[in-house]
Amino acid sequence: MYLICLEKIIGSRYSIGGESMKSLKFWFITGSQHLYGEETLQEVAEHAEEMVGFFNQQNNICYEIIYKPVVTTPEEILNTMIEANGDVNCAGVITWMHTFSPSKMWINGLKAIQKPMLHLHTQFNKEIPWDTIDMDFMNTNQSAHGDREHGFIFTRMGIKRKVVVGYYQDPKVIERMGKWLNVAAVAYQGADIKIMRLGDNMREVAVTEGDKVEAQIKLGWHVNTYGVGDLVEKMKEVTESQVDDLMEQYKESYTFADGILEDSSQREAVRYQAKVEIALKGMLEEGGFSGFTNTFEDLHGLKQLPGLASQRIMEAGFGFGPEGDWKVAAMVRVMKMISGNKGTSLMEDYTYHLEGGNEAILGAHMLEICPTLAEDKPRIEVHTLGIGGKDAPARLTFSGKEGKAICVSLVDMGGRLRLIILDVEAIKVPYDMPNLPVARVLWKPMPSMLESAEAWIYAGGAHHTAFSYDVTAEEMIDWAELMDIECIHINKSTTIPNLKRELAINELLWKFK
Ligand code: MN
Repeated sequence: MYLICLEKIIGSRYSIGGESMKSLKFWFITGSQHLYGEETLQEVAEHAEEMVGFFNQQNNICYEIIYKPVVTTPEEILNTMIEANGDVNCAGVITWMHTFSPSKMWINGLKAIQKPMLHLHTQFNKEIPWDTIDMDFMNTNQSAHGDREHGFIFTRMGIKRKVVVGYYQDPKVIERMGKWLNVAAVAYQGADIKIMRLGDNMREVAVTEGDKVEAQIKLGWHVNTYGVGDLVEKMKEVTESQVDDLMEQYKESYTFADGILEDSSQREAVRYQAKVEIALKGMLEEGGFSGFTNTFEDLHGLKQLPGLASQRIMEAGFGFGPEGDWKVAAMVRVMKMISGNKGTSLMEDYTYHLEGGNEAILGAHMLEICPTLAEDKPRIEVHTLGIGGKDAPARLTFSGKEGKAICVSLVDMGGRLRLIILDVEAIKVPYDMPNLPVARVLWKPMPSMLESAEAWIYAGGAHHTAFSYDVTAEEMIDWAELMDIECIHINKSTTIPNLKRELAINELLWKFK
């Protein structure tokens, strides 16, 4: 039942204030007309209700779908859409034309609707009943042309919607539909994303900058700054017994590097991160924040760059961006919401392996990669950092899992936002790298390492990304469309000439939007 998924999503919203996603619902609206007579309309209604009942039993559909009476007139369509707009719990509308529903009847309703739309192009019967089929059956089961009429009016009016095609009980259809509903709910709910910035962007860095007003208008993100001194003050309230409790949790969840607990300075380094975690998480929860940024250029009053602390807070479902990168913090949060906080982290393209035919990218950060990527139990270690000029920070080290993943970057093009999605294949890290005690992931990007980097650089993608094993490119493309922002997908079919043409066309397209 959908409640299983809801728990997953609510879990990802970990103690964050405000409304939960639990109450979100999608409306299922079946279109028809009076031409067919009452008997047929009754049958259409029964079929639609049965389908909704089926959807609500599916594990892959995480939100309740509400059956709405079949609409047959322009007035009914308009009123249903106005009602959908007015219901704060309605996160979107699904339409389906069992029979033919003349689309001029839909114009006013579609002009009015302000919720995400899914056009489900399906059929009640899976197979043609070859032996018994007659014209009555043909007239009742005609979504093949009813949905074409419906599709035309969306396209004619330039209305964005998702189209999912196939028999309604097909697991692939259910999966695609379920994923879109989840993304639509995240898009709808994502307007409450609040990012706490501790310090500004890193000096002179361009790609982590951006128009926060535009981001709020387009994406609903609230991005505001707070002094790192507020965190330092808050840390003074943390008691030793709170730190003791958290150390016990660390012992349960992770392993410790040899001797770390016996060495007083290393133990204190871990306890210091625990103190940062308690104080910072307290600030985020009290303020209803969904994520945060910091910068190693502004750590006044802090002894260490938050490493373990940032990793733990990300693991709990919050977004994080280093060096003031609020766009990546919010993207990590969005993708954690979509994935139910599975396998999603801040990432950075760090260094290349350029051996011909075996090229790969080693992704990591100075410290802050989320343990939801880990292949095995992460280990707590304490080591000095080459930059930042602070004490040796405690951090979780691990290697990332193998498998398909995506890297996502949101860049500000000046006047518009561009989302760049890259398909990658994470591979086993074949070496121990004993002198590199940070969390890391090794991957091969599509279509190849060299072409992907060329494409990424032409597209203007950043070095920081939101990385996920559990969010698909299709979900992010859907999210970008719901948010009405430009989207570039670099994948196994990408060629550089096509990509350059797409970028050039987009320059024009988005200028006139
Ligand atoms: Mn960085």
